[in-house]
Amino acid sequence: MTTGYVWHELFGWHDTGSGPLFPADPAAGIQPLAHLAHPDTKRRMHELIAVSGLLDHLTRIPTRVATEAEILRVHTPEHVERIQRESGLPKGGDAGDGFSPFGKGGYDIAALAAGSAIAMVEAVAGRSVDNGYALVNPPGHHALPGTGMGFCIFNNVAVAVRHAQAELGIRRVAVVDWDVHHGNGTQAAFADDPTVLTISLHQDNCFPPDSGPVTDRGRGAGTGYDLNIPMPPGTGDGGYRYAAEAVIAPALEAFRPELIVVASGFDANGMDPLARQLISSRAFVHLTETVMAAADSSAGGRLVLVQEGGYSPVYVPFCGLLTIATLAGVPVLEDPILPIIAGQAGHELEPHQKDAVDRAAALVTDITAG
Ligand code: ZN
Repeated sequence: MTTGYVWHELFGWHDTGSGPLFPADPAAGIQPLAHLAHPDTKRRMHELIAVSGLLDHLTRIPTRVATEAEILRVHTPEHVERIQRESGLPKGGDAGDGFSPFGKGGYDIAALAAGSAIAMVEAVAGRSVDNGYALVNPPGHHALPGTGMGFCIFNNVAVAVRHAQAELGIRRVAVVDWDVHHGNGTQAAFADDPTVLTISLHQDNCFPPDSGPVTDRGRGAGTGYDLNIPMPPGTGDGGYRYAAEAVIAPALEAFRPELIVVASGFDANGMDPLARQLISSRAFVHLTETVMAAADSSAGGRLVLVQEGGYSPVYVPFCGLLTIATLAGVPVLEDPILPIIAGQAGHELEPHQKDAVDRAAALVTDITAG
């Protein structure tokens, strides 16, 4: 098994400003502090991958900048032009919602993230590696065609999927989004398209507000090909395991994708400040095994994971390390935090969690390999 890997130092230079969430504002009582989406969390994940020795077993895939034409497959010209314009300002700009700042040159880093997701899809589709992990920053899954939001500027996964369909001879793609927040931007990009199945496993009504109910199923010809699994707050490893087995695995088996792309956020972990789920690295390993088995079954193993959110600088690196080690089939150092997180209460599947999963599972029968 050869596993590709992408990281570039510029991803650690994505400047999210000096406000903890909203920009610092003394009149509003908002003190300066490192932003919750500070890039150090992802830089620490890369450094753990290097220090643990896992990096020696991975194949580095060169990063590249997405062209405007590639970004425009998903985004509007107005959005691209606004990001370019604000990127030239001395203090940069904002992705679109007022709490997703970027610094001067932010366009170039965002285009590098989207282009690097493309590069990883090309490497996996072309079989130069068996599967791959693109550790990119800023994330992408909240970015809508016409605006960025939720720390996301361009939708890296959607841009990479559209590239695979336009240039690489791939038709059916499944996107599995296990970031704890709803993958609303990715859902919007493919809502009317039955060739892209989007599955979002997220905390019920967490972010964006009122987004990602199980009743959101796409529109027009794409109806049935958006699958949302909103999990109650407080779900642990057992609930996530059940969601993987009862919805994600059978949905992928029914759809028979030629490529699986995972929007890989680590913010469902039990130490994250921006959500209320409880899971440990053990659950991320199981999710990874689930999509690997599905990729082997229908996609010739073609599987790409692209980094999304994750805001615990302490635990995200270990969740990422174990996820990539699973992809590569390489044993690495153990997660030292696992006994604490996995030892907490709440990992048994609860009836209300099972009900939430079962509502999504009932929709799988509408998915075909068309
Ligand atoms: Zn998230």
